[in-house]
Amino acid sequence: MAKSAEVKLAVFGRAGVGKSALVVRFLTKRFIWEYDPTLESTYRHQASIDDELVSMEILDTAGQEDMLQREGHIRWGDGFVVVYDITDRGSFEDVVPLKSLLEEAKKPKSATLVLVGNKADLEHARQVSTEEGERLAAELSCAFYECSACTGEGCVSEPFLELCREVRRR
Ligand code: GDP
Ligand code: MG
Repeated sequence: MAKSAEVKLAVFGRAGVGKSALVVRFLTKRFIWEYDPTLESTYRHQASIDDELVSMEILDTAGQEDMLQREGHIRWGDGFVVVYDITDRGSFEDVVPLKSLLEEAKKPKSATLVLVGNKADLEHARQVSTEEGERLAAELSCAFYECSACTGEGCVSEPFLELCREVRRR
């Protein structure tokens, strides 16, 4: 493999959307039902992406940090996985203000992100349609995925890998 790259990814989204479950599913292919919601963790993971060895550092934020901590996380990250819960419209409505925050903190550069609608297994409780997710992603000019950390359906790994690609392209 040609070279090795370091990419720092931070996972953002309202508490309870499944950030920890997604990260753990991506890293271990397993689902953990209960995960300390106040816990903030960083993980290291290596993947070969398009013939390049990429070392990821993944920050799983708790989603309840104060402004100063959040700004620190944004400054730290090269790219952002922005997660909402398809059964929680409020978590979807959090996305636009979050994106503004990312843009503000990354000026004059633009923020690199992907949008993920999680809990796709809970179709009966859905509050945000796939089309709405797609439309928002188009507005934010970012990639969009729907998935379930619980069942592993949809693309759980793809958002992380695509985000690495995007970061490397910049
Ligand atoms: P976080 O606060 O964003 O880190 O959310 P967690 O990963 O702690 O998940 C919050 C709750 O949602 C937990 O009870 C999880 O079991 C549940 N959860 C997470 N992802 C999914 C999913 O894809 N489907 C379902 N049905 N539940 C999920
Ligand atoms: Mg968590």
